Formats: sequence, structure tokens, C-alpha cells
Amino acid sequence: MMIDEGLTESPLKPAYGPQFSFIFFSTQTKMMKIAILVLSGIAVAHCQGSADTACSLLQSELGDNVSFPGSAAYAEAIAHFEPTSSQNSTCSVAPTSANEVATILKIVGREDIRAPFAVKGSGHANNVGHSSTVGVQIALSGFTDVSYDLEASTATFGPGLSFDEIYEYLEQFNVSVVGARAAGVGVGLVLGGGYSWITNQYGLAIDNIVSLDVVLPNGTFVTVTDAAHPDLMFGLRGGLNNFGIVTSFTVKAYPLSSVWGGIVVYNVDDSAGEDPVARAIADFSLNNKDKKSQLNAGFTITGGQSLWQVILFHDGPTVPDVFQPFLQIPNNSSNLVEGGSFTEFLSLLNVLGDTIPGGFYDVVPIVHYTEPLISAFKTQANLTYTQAISDNRSISTVLINLELFHGMFQHSVPSAYPHSPCREVTPCNPWILFRVSEICGYPMRVHSGYMRVMRVMRVPITLCLSCRILVD
Ligand SMILES: Cc1cc2nc3c(=O)[nH]c(=O)nc-3n(C[C@H](O)[C@H](O)[C@H](O)COP(=O)(O)OP(=O)(O)OC[C@H]3O[C@@H](n4cnc5c(N)ncnc54)[C@H](O)[C@@H]3O)c2cc1C
Repeated sequence: MMIDEGLTESPLKPAYGPQFSFIFFSTQTKMMKIAILVLSGIAVAHCQGSADTACSLLQSELGDNVSFPGSAAYAEAIAHFEPTSSQNSTCSVAPTSANEVATILKIVGREDIRAPFAVKGSGHANNVGHSSTVGVQIALSGFTDVSYDLEASTATFGPGLSFDEIYEYLEQFNVSVVGARAAGVGVGLVLGGGYSWITNQYGLAIDNIVSLDVVLPNGTFVTVTDAAHPDLMFGLRGGLNNFGIVTSFTVKAYPLSSVWGGIVVYNVDDSAGEDPVARAIADFSLNNKDKKSQLNAGFTITGGQSLWQVILFHDGPTVPDVFQPFLQIPNNSSNLVEGGSFTEFLSLLNVLGDTIPGGFYDVVPIVHYTEPLISAFKTQANLTYTQAISDNRSISTVLINLELFHGMFQHSVPSAYPHSPCREVTPCNPWILFRVSEICGYPMRVHSGYMRVMRVMRVPITLCLSCRILVD
């Protein structure tokens, strides 16, 4: 299951005809197909009509907070990190208080309206429909408060901020929170799971929630804590937008000041029959005990060239011993910084380049990355890329992101995202990027074939490596 995007449909969000009609078409009779087409048409018309009604009611209640196609505010509200995650909503609304959020939910959820809607923080969801809609786009960009409570060692922030903005504010106190590993990513991460550069030390973002201010689907406002609303807290930890809209997050803060790290890029040359980077990664995966040191390795094929992009991070100013093997392998380039601030480190990590085309990614859970497994993943990535080139399609990059966490589930608290310390897994993300001009069908097909093989290929390797690799 994907860590952050398993449960993204709100219970208030009705399901509409077109999705269902595709499923039925293969098995139904001609008459039934016609009936379904008619019903689908009615559903689409209802969907559009209900969104139009909701938008005009929202405009009369919230005035300038509501925007329509053609305006800059609307364009910003529907924009996503990957353009393929965006949809053209009927209108967008940007509330600035919990009361306004309640007003919005009461309108879109009204029995006679039931308009489709989506909730967007910083728009880093990788799939269309997770924080985008053709109905009412609710953009939380107006919630930008952030503060630090020295006595309680907690930070409080709004959903309009991205993690780099939160880190930057906290740096004056020499503390940080468990949040995103890349600039721009938003607080949806806290409700979905949340893997950070300090996760080996302190767990996932959901393990560090202290309290959440939430507007429930019926418009009621509650402050959710483990003591006051344990069931709701359980659901919100991993349940994303399924239980309400969070207007303020309070999470534990930890000391963090001077760090070491950056990216090292290596050309991949398998001609001698071995890959020293894969060996160093496997060794780190199997043997690392230093919780302050984390790494993330991307096997990337782009422009016909294969690269390893290895991000090294250490919570401390100087290079730890565990990274020495990586520094001894000849590399293409590196931007390692010693003793810099955490936000300086984040600014070094632009692995995907400046222009993000369309993309899909998914997650394969792994216990340990071994050399045979890494080699099998590389083979599959190469096949996927070669196939796309021979099909003359615009897949620009095939990437497998190996995430090498250790002991991160030791901090696990009860949550809707199960992460038991008895069944520790670390994510592997097969990712493809393609030009938006490419019709989504081809990349989707390629990606799902890629994923199928990635999931299946763990099994025989598991058998020959004495169950080091998890089989679901
Ligand atoms: C480049 C990149 C780097 C990433 N790095 C990491 C990483 O280091 N660690 C990690 O764990 N994940 C990472 N992710 C995945 C990311 O955590 C998730 O996509 C996360 O959900 C993004 O949150 P967002 O607010 O930016 O996204 P959005 O698309 O705005 O929201 C994501 C989901 O959260 C819901 N949501 C957002 N805010 C609220 C709210 N206030 N109340 C209720 N529901 C809400 C949305 O409805 C949607 O379902 C990364 C993704 C990308 C594209």
C-alpha cells in the first residue's frame, strides 16, 4: 500500500457514473450498456449541476475567497507538483478560518447538492483525484500560521505551509519536526504516514502528532487528542481527508541544527559484471545501525543514460563512518555540505529537475535491499525504458527510488496506517515521468506492467535469500 495515498476519497464525496460504467461495459448486454450510458450522462450532468450550485452558493457566502477559471487565484488553487494530478474544477475556494471551512462543508454536503470536492494542502499527491476534482477545489493555502512551544517541545502549523517553510521557521530554535524530505511537500504527509530525514530516530509523522484541529464533515469543530477523541485520532493517523479537514496540526519537535549531506551522482557501468554502488546500498540496508544516518538512492534512466543518485543525510555536522564506502566509489558529481543547516541541506536535493512533467508512482514494501534484488529492479527499469523508446513514446525518465529506513516502526503508535514494529518494511518507489502531451493511457499501462513485475519479482528472490524480503 502506498504510505500516504491509500485512503484519499472523502466519505462525503459521492461516486459518479462514468467510473462504474467502464467496469460494467465488458459484461453487460447492449440494452444494459445503453441504460448505463444514459445513467452515466445523468450522473455527469448532476455532478456538474451540483458543483455549479455549490459554487454560486459559496460565492454568495464567501465572496472573494471563491475563484473561477481564468483567474490567477483559481490557477494556483488547482495546481499540483505533477500537472497530471490536477483537474479543472468548477470553482476553487480558499478558506482562511475553521468557520469558513465549516461553511464550505455544509454547502457541498447539503442533501440536495452533494457536490464533488477535493481538499488540497501543497498539492504533492501523485494521483489525479486525490486532491483534485472537477467539482469544488478547496485550497488550504490561507492557513499559514506557525509557532513553537519551547516548554512543551511542540510545533503548531497550518495546512497552507510546506515543510521547508515550517523547518525554516523552526531553525531559529534549533529544532525541527518529522516532515518531508523534499522542499515543497505539504502537510497532507502528516495524515498519510510521513517519512522524514529523522524518521529512523523518531518514527513516522503520524507517530508524532500531539493534537489536530479538525472540521468534521457535518461542520462541527473539534480539537482531537489521544485523550479527548482516541478513535478519531486513530482514524486521522493514516486516514488523510476521510475524517474531516484539519485546520491546525500540533506535533512533537526535536533538536536539529547542524547537519551533513547532499547528493552524490554516479554513472552506472555494469560492464564489469558488478555495481559497487548497489553493493554499498545493500550493505547499508542490511547492516546500518547508525540511526542518525539515512540514505535514499535513486536508480534513474534518463536521456538514455543510467545514473545512481544517492542522497546521504546525517544528523550531525560531519561525515559518519557508515557513509565512507559511498565516498570511496568514483562519482560524477556531488554537492555534499558539512555542518550546514537543515534547510540548506534540503535545497541541495533537486533530483527530478526543475520542470516536472507528468508522472505516476507507487510503492513496493521491502524488508532489506539485497544486491540480487537491486539488480532485478534495475533490469526491470531498463526493460521499461527500452520498451517505451522502441514504442516511440515520451517516457522521459524511469526511476526506482530505494528508501533505506532502519528501526522506524519502533516508534509506532496505533493508527489507521498499520506499521507494526513486528513487520518492519521500507518503501521502494517505482516512478515514471512523461511529457504531458503523452496521452495518459500509455504511461499508465507501462507503469502498471512495471509495478506488476516489481511486486512479483520479490517472491523468487525472497525464497533464495531466506525470507529477507517481505512477501505480502
Ligand atoms: C517530490 C515529492 C517528494 C515527496 N517526499 C515525501 C517524503 O519525503 N516523505 C513522505 O512521507 N512523502 C513524500 N511524498 C509524498 C507526499 O507526502 C504525499 O503526496 C502527501 O500527501 C503530500 O501532501 P500535500 O499536502 O503536499 O499534498 P496534497 O496533494 O495537497 O494532499 C495530499 C492528500 O492529503 C489530503 N490533505 C491535505 N491537507 C489536508 C488537510 N489539512 N486536512 C485533510 N486532508 C488533507 C488531501 O486531500 C490529499 O488526499 C513526496 C511526494 C512528492 C511528489
